[in-house]
Amino acid sequence: ASAFEAVPMAPTDPLFGLMAAYKADTFEKKVDLGVGAYRDDNAKPWILPVVKKADEINRNDPSLNHEYLPIAGLASLTSAAAKLVLGGDSPAISEKRVVSFQTISGTGAVHLGALFLAKFYPRPANQAIHVSDPTWVNHHQIFSNVGLPIKKYPYFASDICGLDWTGLTSALEAAEPGSVILLHACAHNPTGVDPTQDQWKAIAEIMKRKKLFPFFDTAYQGFASGDLAKDAWAIQYFVEQGFELCIAQSFAKNFGLYGQRAGCFHFVASPGAHAEDVTKRVGSQLAILQRSEISNPPIYGARIASTVLNDPALFKEWQDDLCTMSGRIITMRKALYDKLVELGTPGTWTHITSQIGMFSFTGLSEPQVQKLRDEFHIYMTKNGRISMAGLNTRNVEYVATAIDKVVR
Ligand code: PMP
Repeated sequence: ASAFEAVPMAPTDPLFGLMAAYKADTFEKKVDLGVGAYRDDNAKPWILPVVKKADEINRNDPSLNHEYLPIAGLASLTSAAAKLVLGGDSPAISEKRVVSFQTISGTGAVHLGALFLAKFYPRPANQAIHVSDPTWVNHHQIFSNVGLPIKKYPYFASDICGLDWTGLTSALEAAEPGSVILLHACAHNPTGVDPTQDQWKAIAEIMKRKKLFPFFDTAYQGFASGDLAKDAWAIQYFVEQGFELCIAQSFAKNFGLYGQRAGCFHFVASPGAHAEDVTKRVGSQLAILQRSEISNPPIYGARIASTVLNDPALFKEWQDDLCTMSGRIITMRKALYDKLVELGTPGTWTHITSQIGMFSFTGLSEPQVQKLRDEFHIYMTKNGRISMAGLNTRNVEYVATAIDKVVR
């Protein structure tokens, strides 16, 4: 008999299950609004033109080989990544209060941060990390896998398909002092609902007063609004306010490097006499954790992102590519909204254009989602989240008409 007879069957990952069902569907007009990956107007994956160039440069560089990276990853990437998220002239960087590790994309960055906090963040036994309700589903698994209990704070108000401001601020006020709060820097997944800058300021005020510890997850910088600084505003504001914090940064969406698994984890120490020393010691422990988990991170996607981030001309082209992606998505939001209004579809749909980034939380119910799949071959997650990138000029009318039919 196996030693593992008692292992229970785990459910398959809902998102990857949805992708498989879509793939198996033979209907000509099927639509994939599930996966959070950018698609062009032909519903095809898009290799960013600047990434093609960086790829050429790297493949033709005779000085490059396939040796291991250092434990902390490609230094030219991690330093440029810190500047990207914190701002080039960030005092945190010049004061040597930042330590950065290249990770297995954003997921690996969240994991390395979770592991670090579980081991070194001083907290009462069983103190929870607070995540938004809802949040990226993987947050639950990543934090519980390292033994951090999870508590949810209210975030989404379904009656307005917007931010539950009272719920959010009350939960922060009530959180145990010292608690870690996971925040989405921009383009909140799955809701597409972000606090305004004034709301971020108020959140920072509460968190400072209650001594709460921010852990920012940034998976959509530049992809959300097309403006890199705007999408990093909340993080930079918190750093300016003197917070000590962690950042998990993904280059999957903004470079279209999904499968290359390029990302970074940053720890920023609060300013003070010992800041540089604390940062060094934290870095030394991160190196042990990283070594035991992955030894060292993968090289190729890191090289591509580094080439772009460190070359002013390529960086400029990248900003154009970010505008292409974010612009197309914003256009599709408008197109879907306009069509629903034109059809007189019951309900209000303004949230489709006010929400930001890859996703829209439509407010469609689970039975409506099922009907869209069964009758119209339109695939989305059960919670009514649609990936805006799955819409294009050819299918947006079909999708709007189908939504109109299922909500009536
Ligand atoms: N955090 C959030 C909020 C995300 O939406 C994603 C991507 N779905 C990630 C992290 C990490 O993705 P990846 O590991 O592909 O970078």
